[in-house]
Amino acid sequence: MIDPTCIFCRIVAGEIPSRQVYADDAAIAFLDMEPLKTGHTLVVPRTHVTDLLAAPDVLAAIAPAIAATGDLLTHKLGATGMNVLSNVGADAGQSVFHLHVHLIPRYGDDPGMG
Ligand code: 5GP
Ligand code: ZN
Repeated sequence: MIDPTCIFCRIVAGEIPSRQVYADDAAIAFLDMEPLKTGHTLVVPRTHVTDLLAAPDVLAAIAPAIAATGDLLTHKLGATGMNVLSNVGADAGQSVFHLHVHLIPRYGDDPGMG
């Protein structure tokens, strides 16, 4: 399902440009426009679901994309660790209500994220 009012559905559809890192049948991964660290990437299912807890089957479907994107960031950028997280609900900091998993590469002695 696609929601024409949803910014991530529009990115998936190619209506809004993004810097794509990875894509497969279930998901695309693109650079966050306000990166917390170099290479901060969002993995987004092609189908519109609001959040991670709303659709466990979708989480399973995008698991290979999460792993492949993490691998790419590790090998291309030399990340030595990765914060992998998904905010659920406005009170938890979710601002786009289309499931997305943040992959935030870490580089050994970089400063913390507060
Ligand atoms: P949330 O706060 O929902 O966990 O994360 C949403 C993320 O999406 C934020 O880190 C924000 O920078 C990113 N974001 C929002 N709109 C766009 C967009 O149009 N393009 C890209 N590349 N990232 C976006
Ligand atoms: Zn959407």
